[in-house]
Amino acid sequence: MTLNNSTTPTSLITIFGATGDLAKRKLYPSLYHLFRKGKISKRFAVVGVARREWSNEEFQEHVKTSVHKALGSDENIDEFVSHFYYQPNDVSNSDSYKALKNLSDELDETYELEGNRVFYLAMAPEFFGTITEQLKNQGLTDTKGFQRLVIEKPFGHDLPSAEKLNSQIRESFSEDQIYRIDHYLGKEMVQNIEVIRFSNAMFEPLWNNRYISNIQVTSSEELGVEDRGRYYEKSGALRDMVQNHLLQMVALLAMEPPIKLTTDEIRSEKVRVLRSLRPFQQDEVKDYFVRGQYGPGKAGNEALPGYREAENVDDQSNTETYVAGKLMIDNFRWAGVPFYIRTGKRMETKSTKIVIQFKDIPMNLYYNPDKPLAPNLLVIHIQPEEGITLHLNVKKSGQNIETTPVKLNFANNSVDGMNTPEAYEKLLFDCLRGDATNFTHWDEVKLSWAFVDKISEVWEHTRDGEFPNYEAGSMGPKAADNLLAKDGFSWWPIANLDVDQC
Ligand code: NAP
Repeated sequence: MTLNNSTTPTSLITIFGATGDLAKRKLYPSLYHLFRKGKISKRFAVVGVARREWSNEEFQEHVKTSVHKALGSDENIDEFVSHFYYQPNDVSNSDSYKALKNLSDELDETYELEGNRVFYLAMAPEFFGTITEQLKNQGLTDTKGFQRLVIEKPFGHDLPSAEKLNSQIRESFSEDQIYRIDHYLGKEMVQNIEVIRFSNAMFEPLWNNRYISNIQVTSSEELGVEDRGRYYEKSGALRDMVQNHLLQMVALLAMEPPIKLTTDEIRSEKVRVLRSLRPFQQDEVKDYFVRGQYGPGKAGNEALPGYREAENVDDQSNTETYVAGKLMIDNFRWAGVPFYIRTGKRMETKSTKIVIQFKDIPMNLYYNPDKPLAPNLLVIHIQPEEGITLHLNVKKSGQNIETTPVKLNFANNSVDGMNTPEAYEKLLFDCLRGDATNFTHWDEVKLSWAFVDKISEVWEHTRDGEFPNYEAGSMGPKAADNLLAKDGFSWWPIANLDVDQC
């Protein structure tokens, strides 16, 4: 397929869950941005679906408010929202799809949409199977244009549930029509991993076990579980973050150069990384993974409650709010190089960073027992800062030959990152023009669940008597430091790695 980089083809976008939080905070501002930039075809229409009995006017008002709140500007907003229509519909009621089909066909004609349809499921996953079945059975997918399905996380709860969900969806949509969202893949600096690796002569030759000693991927949040206790109790950090976002970043860091930058080639290289993850036996989980749960703590003078005090959380909860792990990729390039990952809630700082630590040079001519030579680091700042930093050693000014570490910085002028419309904007644009590269293929989802299930099987059947084992506002449990210390490494302190603005 030839991709058009400037504007998207004409399309009807149907958003299920149109009155919800995701649509409000991410989807409407992202669509508006695309509209303002002229990136979306002028021939588009959006149908919002939810149970609430809203009129078109109420829906349009809601979209306006969402855009204004998210972006602070709303030039041409009336023209934008004139493309929005609302269809009250309980998705579990099969009769209600008739009205949706009529409206969709009508809009198809009015806006000359050529039968192109994107169905965005911004709803709880238990509805995915029913919706896709009804879309097919009631003829909503029976059009002459393209039909694409966008699905939010979580894609299943474990491998069996993901397989069940996938086979339900596949009854109505083929794999190449399914766009599984992992919003990390829409982030500027995550997309930059490939560019940094494959467009710089100085990195790719060093990107292997001869020159890299270890890689550290951290995604920490300052916020606690907030009002998502019910969801989080069943999910935990392993399913919420590791199965998708962290393993996706590891796959991008570790994959072989694809022969072409096409969706299939990139995805198949990522799949090969996931297939190379070293499997472990149940009794080895403790050697590779550490779990944590935050207790009460402090941020400055503010007292922070523990996880077990949050709403809808069991006061004896065994759910992890923190995971650290050591991944080994058993292939020729990475044999022997640990990839350490960690993620947690209520940590000291909000940050997603990747640290690539290079091996020490074979002979240190500047040996100083009081001041060891700092290793070279490449730091990729994903959020909230966006940029890269290269840590080098140079001569300290003065008469003696002494080394001093310096940082070479590149800082993207970025907006605050986590979940910003930026990622969704890119992903919506990609989906509308049929580029599935930055969405996860079923093979990736399947392998990630198979890996993560091994850990959750052990954790679910053993209580962690030490929970809570880290203070809110800290960088996690001590055991996570020991995981690296056993290998002679330590976590690079996140706060010291920040990009200095150029
Ligand atoms: P939400 O705020 O609870 O919204 C749920 C939506 O579904 C509402 O529009 C609700 O509207 C609609 N709905 C519920 N039952 C329905 C039914 N039977 N028929 C028709 N509509 C129904 O949830 P959300 O936070 O937007 O999340 C949506 C999905 O995105 C979830 O899968 C979530 O895991 C995922 N996600 C969300 C975020 C985020 O930032 N919010 C981030 C990543 C992933 P009515 O009550 O009017 O029916």
